[in-house]
Amino acid sequence: MEWVLAIDLGGTNIKAGVVGADGTIAVSRSVKTFVQRGPAKVLAAMVELANGLKAECGRPITRGGVGSPGPLSQARGEVCGSPNLPGWDAVPVVRTLEQGTGLRFVLENDANAACLGEKLFGAGKPFDPIVHFTLGTGVGGGVYLDGKLFTGPSGAGAELGHMCLDLDGLRCGCGSYGCLETFASDTGIRAFVAAEGGRFPDSPLNNFAPENVNFKAVMECRAKADPFADEVYRRVVRALGAGIASYVNIFNPQAVILSGGMINAGKPFFADIEAVMRQRAIKVLADGVVILPSVLGDNTGVLGAAACALGI
Ligand SMILES: [Zn+2]
Repeated sequence: MEWVLAIDLGGTNIKAGVVGADGTIAVSRSVKTFVQRGPAKVLAAMVELANGLKAECGRPITRGGVGSPGPLSQARGEVCGSPNLPGWDAVPVVRTLEQGTGLRFVLENDANAACLGEKLFGAGKPFDPIVHFTLGTGVGGGVYLDGKLFTGPSGAGAELGHMCLDLDGLRCGCGSYGCLETFASDTGIRAFVAAEGGRFPDSPLNNFAPENVNFKAVMECRAKADPFADEVYRRVVRALGAGIASYVNIFNPQAVILSGGMINAGKPFFADIEAVMRQRAIKVLADGVVILPSVLGDNTGVLGAAACALGI
């Protein structure tokens, strides 16, 4: 079995592992990114991590994959201007890793990598097409179509979180307004709670420090019958249901897979989203789709990067 080196570069942590072609993780390790130290130091830490894992694993390895927050240029192997990696402008990730490790590397947007990982190793195995969403700080998206990841000629697609749901909605990090991400991400929830909390002066959501307002906090308050938390929850569910319905109509996927912290809300959350999707999607297309939770958990990033490496 072939083994590859997989690196999940995040704004907070760098996770890496040696992964087999069947998704077995032989060794793995995680270090803090320390993004404020700048790209050169972060890249040096990635090279050190990769070489350490390669030596520790003792298996022959010739290729590796890196999942990174976008935007990035896959053709040039560079991360360019990611909001999660401040100061990273045209940073040569692939060249630096190849020179430092002697392996061939491929760079992929982390949301696309997660989609491919779910197809190769996870809940997506039996399905094609697959539409994948990563629900967290933002809404990441990936589309697996006709046997491969769909990324477009620039490699920067498929930004599913930036479908516009409300022409006059809240400002989105991408520069547009009313994107799916302004409804169904922790960032969107935070902005909505800040804007609308005044209508519910008694809501415990108003007592959270702004940085702690997220979907998990909403679920905690909703469990205590807070009407504002219920409104926020319904806003998330309606947006996801409507957004997914649009993608079901466009791609005719066999599976829509959700990953990220929000999926801890469990079966009732999935049932609520699916009910909205089935109300809105074209019936013949909705009939052929299932909405599933990711099964890769904390390993999504590393397995996604491994899936990309296996495809070089
Ligand atoms: Zn947007």
